[in-house]
Amino acid sequence: MTKKVPFFNYQQLYKSQKEDFLRILDDVLGRGAYILQNDLKEFENNLAEYTGAKHAIGVANGTDALEMIYEFSGLKTGDEVIYPSHTFIASPASIHYIGAVPVPVDCGPDHMLDAKSVEQAITPKTRAIMPVQLNGRTCNMDELQSLADKHNLLIIEDSAQGLGSKFKNKMAGTFGLAGTYSFYPAKILGCFGDGGAIVTNDSTLAEKLMWVRDHGRNPQSGVVEVWGRNSRLDNVQAALLNFQFRFFKDTIQRRRKIASLYTEQLGSLAQITLPPAPDTDPNHFDTYQNYEIEAQDRDGLKKFLGENGIGTLVQWGGTATHQMKNLGFTQQLPSTDALFTRLLMLPMNTLLSDDDVLYVCQKIQQFYSA
Ligand SMILES: *Cc1c(COP(=O)(O)O)cnc(C)c1O
Repeated sequence: MTKKVPFFNYQQLYKSQKEDFLRILDDVLGRGAYILQNDLKEFENNLAEYTGAKHAIGVANGTDALEMIYEFSGLKTGDEVIYPSHTFIASPASIHYIGAVPVPVDCGPDHMLDAKSVEQAITPKTRAIMPVQLNGRTCNMDELQSLADKHNLLIIEDSAQGLGSKFKNKMAGTFGLAGTYSFYPAKILGCFGDGGAIVTNDSTLAEKLMWVRDHGRNPQSGVVEVWGRNSRLDNVQAALLNFQFRFFKDTIQRRRKIASLYTEQLGSLAQITLPPAPDTDPNHFDTYQNYEIEAQDRDGLKKFLGENGIGTLVQWGGTATHQMKNLGFTQQLPSTDALFTRLLMLPMNTLLSDDDVLYVCQKIQQFYSA
């Protein structure tokens, strides 16, 4: 028996709720409500309420969200920011954007920024820690917060992949000065193009971010308060996000169910290491934005699954940020180097049936029993 299990089926996502999407498009376009309209306001309110943050600001994408926070972080040229090398290039790029220095470090066994590695990298120039809430999991924020307190460092979260995940019942994105989300189509809450948001409890920062995303203009008076840019979350995307937000709890629950199925079927295979299963650690609530395993003979497994109709993905094209030769990094991170020969992401999204997941598991078992 062969089956097709694509890694992510963009067309199917649209077709699965086509009538709803078309109805929303017709409504928004019919109202001519394109830029900074009510649907955006509504989405920002929904996001703030859901995350427990005081303010949510919709912006054009998750990368802009990071850059705009750094712009108002008070960091200066030459200041160092410690972040995990296992992340998207946008994380260190946003640090570089303001002339600060991104300092990549290793992650722990759960692939999350690990406090010991951070501590070893602290120098007199360190000003901030950037945890990346990767794969729908939140870092151990107690350890990172106590380091930040001890050394007087800011925390700025790249929670592009973290929406809905929690550490000790507190949402990813709400721990430090500010946090970001991305609504890139393959993200757990995806729109139909680019989209992003910032959350913060700092009302002064929130006000400035509202100005900056709209050319520096004060939304009440229209007065240009600061130099700005154009980085607004499209109103039509906000309307589509509002709709998907209504069943976001079900989305998370389905992903957690799939993670449990993977654990049940593959947990005893010695050749692979799985992400922590749901609820194995009461401090963490994971949403499985990605299901990233470590695999012996990763490339062989990827090829075999491909031949059997199963799509997998190696995150970041298989290159950790400190390995990017053209960017001038000098750090040696042997443990991240070793990890990057083993990482593979299995299909994880709400379009998968239990049968799809069982088929993937059966093929993985077959590969290692050969
Ligand atoms: C997706 C992502 C981003 C960037 O978000 P965009 O909306 O694509 O700009 C940043 N960091 C991480 C970890 C991401 O996964």
